Amino acid sequence: MAKEEIITIEDIIQLASKYLITEDIAFIQRAYDFAKDAHNGQFRKSGEPYIIHPVQVAGILTNLKMDAETIAGGFLHDVVEDTEVTLKNLEEAFNPEVAMLVDGVTKLGKIKYKSKEVLQAENHRKMFVAMAKDIRVILIKLADRLHNMRTLKHLPPEKQRRISNETLEIFAPLAHRLGISTIKWELEDTALRYLNPQQYYRIVQLMKQKREERESYIKEVVEELNKQLDEVKIGAEISGRPKHLYSIYQKMVKQNKQFNEIYDLLAIRIIVHSIKDCYAVLGIIHTNWKPMPGRFKDYIAMPKQNLYQSLHTTVIGPKGDPLEVQIRTKEMHEIAEYGIAAHWAYKEGKQVKGRKKSFEEKLTLFREILEWQTDSHDAEEFIESLKVDLFSDMVYVFTPKGDVIELPAGSIPLDFAYKIHTEIGNKTIGAKINGKMEPLDYTLKNGDIIEVVTSNHSYGPSQDWIKMAQTTQAKSKIKQYFKKQRREENIVKGKEAVDKEIRALNIDPKEVLVSDNLQRIFDRFNFTSEEDMFAAVGYQGITAALIVTRLTDKIRESQQKEQDLETTIEEVKTDVSQKQSQKRDSGVQVKGVDNLLIRLAKCCNPVPGDEILGYITKGRGVSVHRADCPNVQTDEAKERFLQVEWENVQTDNLQYHVDLEVTAYDRRGLLNEVLQAVTEMKTNLTHVNGKSDRNKMAIIQITILIHNKSHLRKVVERIKQIKDVYTVTRTVH
Ligand code: MN
Repeated sequence: MAKEEIITIEDIIQLASKYLITEDIAFIQRAYDFAKDAHNGQFRKSGEPYIIHPVQVAGILTNLKMDAETIAGGFLHDVVEDTEVTLKNLEEAFNPEVAMLVDGVTKLGKIKYKSKEVLQAENHRKMFVAMAKDIRVILIKLADRLHNMRTLKHLPPEKQRRISNETLEIFAPLAHRLGISTIKWELEDTALRYLNPQQYYRIVQLMKQKREERESYIKEVVEELNKQLDEVKIGAEISGRPKHLYSIYQKMVKQNKQFNEIYDLLAIRIIVHSIKDCYAVLGIIHTNWKPMPGRFKDYIAMPKQNLYQSLHTTVIGPKGDPLEVQIRTKEMHEIAEYGIAAHWAYKEGKQVKGRKKSFEEKLTLFREILEWQTDSHDAEEFIESLKVDLFSDMVYVFTPKGDVIELPAGSIPLDFAYKIHTEIGNKTIGAKINGKMEPLDYTLKNGDIIEVVTSNHSYGPSQDWIKMAQTTQAKSKIKQYFKKQRREENIVKGKEAVDKEIRALNIDPKEVLVSDNLQRIFDRFNFTSEEDMFAAVGYQGITAALIVTRLTDKIRESQQKEQDLETTIEEVKTDVSQKQSQKRDSGVQVKGVDNLLIRLAKCCNPVPGDEILGYITKGRGVSVHRADCPNVQTDEAKERFLQVEWENVQTDNLQYHVDLEVTAYDRRGLLNEVLQAVTEMKTNLTHVNGKSDRNKMAIIQITILIHNKSHLRKVVERIKQIKDVYTVTRTVH
């Protein structure tokens, strides 16, 4: 692959004609015409017509001897992203396979590598492979990147660096994995030129100076070897092996070696006709020159994980210097240079001139090639890494910071949350996928960006999560949580507390702990079962009083109505006299009457300064409501009204519960800011509950302790000042 030459459509047709049938040639010509038409009027940063880029990409793929669909995919790889053409158009104009390849390349183009962590690179590469589904998508993407690297000089320096870095971290290793060393080397060398131009040009300079000396020595060695091989009649191509810039650079940096130590090491490559000849040549070399101990490697018997095969040895050469030797067959050489692509071409080549193979058949073929390698550990690893593509049993998703997390296919946001951190899992209340709220059992897709919504006031995992979670890791962490929370104990404790609270209201728990009633509580506080609710009370995630107020509101309302009809003020007085010992701490008095049992209604929670009225109840004295409380607006109720007023006392020692509901645009840190505001106002908080819906609307319910109305007003005003808060309302139950 010549670097600077521009390949033309005519070159491609000529190259492809050597291994593709006429029908295929017409197909790729049509793909070219289509792409040229679609990109008409578009230009690259260099000022050239855009079509030059897809043609170069298709050219690279043709050099790799890829099939007609892949070459067509090369021509068409940018049309969906950059022109009006749709996938459907491609499917109609060509076939679903081409459309699938272009779709794959387009999707890969959208993954942005932004992680700073080196460890993340491997996950990114896996994500690429997983998303590509078909290995040919990766090959097109590699060709695309190769041409983009060749023309990188037209971009601004900042972009040059970013793209070069991504190339080194993601694309060059992918090319290596697939064994396509020609692409790997060029990607690495070009990336180095932009990332470390100083070192790059220094090495270029040093190589230039040494070239002549080196070449003449190699020539000597080659002549000597040729003579020896001729004697035993082994046909071989012997050449000096080029050293690549980036690998020299890496050895200088990583192994802290001098340029001369690396570059002076001479290397030759011998290509023969058969495996038998490989070992024969090795024998001759070891007989003539003394092998260096520990340097012989048989990658023919034990291929490398990218299917690379060769014999390697280092001997003391004719001039007394070490000489590196690689021996391989022609086929092994093709695979060393073109990797997977060579396999594709080889196995396909014999049949391409016959009928067309289906995609499924190609995949099977591909698996066979891989499975054929299973006796080597390395090969096994390689298969493992490609299984991701072929059997797609993993899913790769992003954290908001751009790190890639690997999870089994079918995982849900909870699995992700627990994979990040146990505490995050335990505090999860929702998940945003690609910026949108999704349910906790949403099935994750490759490339999703996941933001877990957590709350410090969450009640912790629910029992259902164990069933929902897909990973054993998440399941066991949730189980651990419950163990730690001593759930059973808490359920018992919670139930006792709730029962006690209900009985205090003279109500039989059995009457209110019924499914309809409970469901309202579950919906309101996000419980999934009675046990969840009791457990939450048990470990004090929520107070029994709050639950019981809700549980009993209906029954209290109807009791009150019944009783009120029979009640007179006299009865109230009698009632109170029996309870003389009860302290009056409501801060409210009934005009002209002393020692009356007065309670503040829990539905509207009046505070000093509110306009209030008394409401006569049987056996419970006077209940004080806010004048505008909807619960006392009926005509019946009006007959039971009693004038009451706030006592003219310092209210600073008294505290009143007030329920507030804050609605806001849901964003990170919102809940904390609300709680902060309350604390700032030196106000006590007794309960918090927060949730958010799919429209990013957050509803936060808080119960605070208030001295009087002006205190309340100040707190409300303060909360309203928080960015993104829509409303603050006092709630009435
Ligand atoms: Mn492109």
